[in-house]
Amino acid sequence: MLDALFRPRGVAIIGASTKELSIGNVIIRNLQTYGYKGNIYPINPTAPDVRGIKAYKSLGEVPGEIDVAHIIIPAKLVPQAIEECGKKGVKAVIINSAGFSEMGEEGARLQEAFLANAKRHGVRVFGPNCQGIINTDPSLKAYCNFTFTYPEPGSVSVVALSGGVGALIMQALFDEGIGMRMYASNGNACDLSIPEILRYWADDPGCKAILLYTEGFSDPMEFLETAREVAARKPVLAMKAGRTEQGAKAASSHTGSLAGVDIATELIFGKTGILSFQDEEDMVRAAKAFATQPVPAGNRVGIITNTGGPAVIATDVLVAAGLEVPKLSDASISRLKATQLPQAALENPIDVVATAGGDQFRAAVEVLLEEEGVDSIFINFVTAPFTDTHEVARQIVEASRKGKKPVVCNFMTDLTQERYRITMEILKDGGIPFYATPTAAARALGALARYGRLRRRDIGRPETFAGADAARARSVVLSARETGRSVLSAADVYTILESYGIPVARWKAAGTPDEAAAAAEAIGCPVVLKVDSEAIDHKSDMGGVAVDLKDPAAVRSAAEGMRRRLGSHGDLKFLVQKFHPGGRELIVGASAERGLGHLVMFGLGGIHVEVLKDVVFKIAPVTRVEACEMLDSIRAKTLLDGVRGQKGVDKDKVVELIQRISQLLADLPEIREMDLNPVMAFEDSVVAVDGRIRI
Ligand code: ADP
Ligand code: MG
Repeated sequence: MLDALFRPRGVAIIGASTKELSIGNVIIRNLQTYGYKGNIYPINPTAPDVRGIKAYKSLGEVPGEIDVAHIIIPAKLVPQAIEECGKKGVKAVIINSAGFSEMGEEGARLQEAFLANAKRHGVRVFGPNCQGIINTDPSLKAYCNFTFTYPEPGSVSVVALSGGVGALIMQALFDEGIGMRMYASNGNACDLSIPEILRYWADDPGCKAILLYTEGFSDPMEFLETAREVAARKPVLAMKAGRTEQGAKAASSHTGSLAGVDIATELIFGKTGILSFQDEEDMVRAAKAFATQPVPAGNRVGIITNTGGPAVIATDVLVAAGLEVPKLSDASISRLKATQLPQAALENPIDVVATAGGDQFRAAVEVLLEEEGVDSIFINFVTAPFTDTHEVARQIVEASRKGKKPVVCNFMTDLTQERYRITMEILKDGGIPFYATPTAAARALGALARYGRLRRRDIGRPETFAGADAARARSVVLSARETGRSVLSAADVYTILESYGIPVARWKAAGTPDEAAAAAEAIGCPVVLKVDSEAIDHKSDMGGVAVDLKDPAAVRSAAEGMRRRLGSHGDLKFLVQKFHPGGRELIVGASAERGLGHLVMFGLGGIHVEVLKDVVFKIAPVTRVEACEMLDSIRAKTLLDGVRGQKGVDKDKVVELIQRISQLLADLPEIREMDLNPVMAFEDSVVAVDGRIRI
């Protein structure tokens, strides 16, 4: 179906205008200038022709078939125009006009009205309030868009909700000399969605990589499922804006506030294998490498340079991007010795020195292509004035064509000089991605390598642990809901955790100081005494936690003290718990995310969690691989392995606990927020000693 939109054979412009700087004129000019191979049908009630093309008073008069109709008329006329499109058999409309859901209620009603007409006639709607599409395919050259960049044909397709950013990316690709395949900017996206476009491009053999710009998704789950399929088939490079710093707002739950404003999109990228970028320049430069180069099979890079310092900078950036700069094999070194100048440094980086010519560069590239210990090649090429730089470029191009390893070049020169522009053209025509600085080039190769890692990673399937008592947990939640409680009691929380085999400190609820003393007796000292009140979020802040109580008498008097001090919080109840000293305090939490189920959080816990904020998130369900990644991605990960004589923690048990929480969340969608803080982690065990659940 999207063929009609992206490969239209006939395009009508409803609202075609003879006024030069109007959208209804610019779109026709773009189609003409770009060399559209199909038929253009301006629709205008009075003008006999627009931009020299015969115009029609109405769609009905158009003799030929129309695949796409641009609609550029006042919003209130759009429903009727779509009705006419339906009658004419138009397959898709691009509504450039604004004045719909982005303008409030009245606009939203108009949008609903035209959508109903479109659905009835089977007309697909792109937009409204959007730019349109471009297909650079030389056999079609469809520029159904009012922007101004005329892209060269290429293999990178761009989709952006925001027309402004879409145009920015398109222009940046153009400036970098990167060809584009298709372009789509769908504004309000009331019908045709980004997931649908992504699926279409996944099937487009002419598209090697997709660039995506988004500000979030109306249906995150739909996007997640599509992204999983598409990213498995071709590279999707994406950027999400609106990464606002998490506000310092004091939310009741750690997980809720630590998750910040919208991290979900970023997490979807991570889960589905989309390569995410922090800024558009980086993303576009990376696209230049993806457009021509293969994905490296591993992280090891061989560096060739004809100047020292820039290779040092490049090495730093490459290593920071997760690449390794390994030693070369003896065989490679002796081959280099035979081919390089006497002053050359025959290691990695290979310094071919400034006087190196095409032969030396060629030999070095060939050695690295054959070197088994290297997966990618980074070239620093400064146009030394005493060398034949064209020849160097030619040899780099020719040699790299013979291999299956990506080659990325830092090309340092003066492009105001004709001579070096020619050198540059040789690299460009040869498909070698080149950049003006070692950092930019190294980042681009870093992105290729990062994508390679994503490709090789298999997160596996979520595990289901036998013996979980979902029914018991569910009945706890239901009875809390029936009694109108949204924050569960400690007893409820521990019961739910125990139902899923999550180890919790031995506990007993107690209504009075005497009962607390008896509970301590039963559990066995030392114990911890805590107040148990839904009204209190942070018990220790108000003196509601007494640790390391050595005998029942101490428990009784601690409980009496709490009653005296905290009595105002209703009739105070207690929880007595086994004391588990000396563990590493971790936090495992969850929060419900609109349209996406739960996010699971892991990090350093205890009472300083808000200060350290050393936490990471994943979208549930969390697989074993993902849980391991969580442990690996907190800043303080080395603490988990043990430092300075302190013991490490049982990581397998932590990983299992995260997975069990994930299973619990899948069964209990009612849970809005949940925190186990802390989970005490020891060398050979883990145990939750505090839990909070809000439904
Ligand atoms: P809150 O988070 O409401 O202040 P917690 O139950 O988490 O209360 O207790 C606060 C701190 O007391 C914990 O971070 C931990 O350091 C310590 N603590 C609580 N319970 C235990 C326990 N059973 N064993 C060891 N330390 C505990
Ligand atoms: Mg706590």
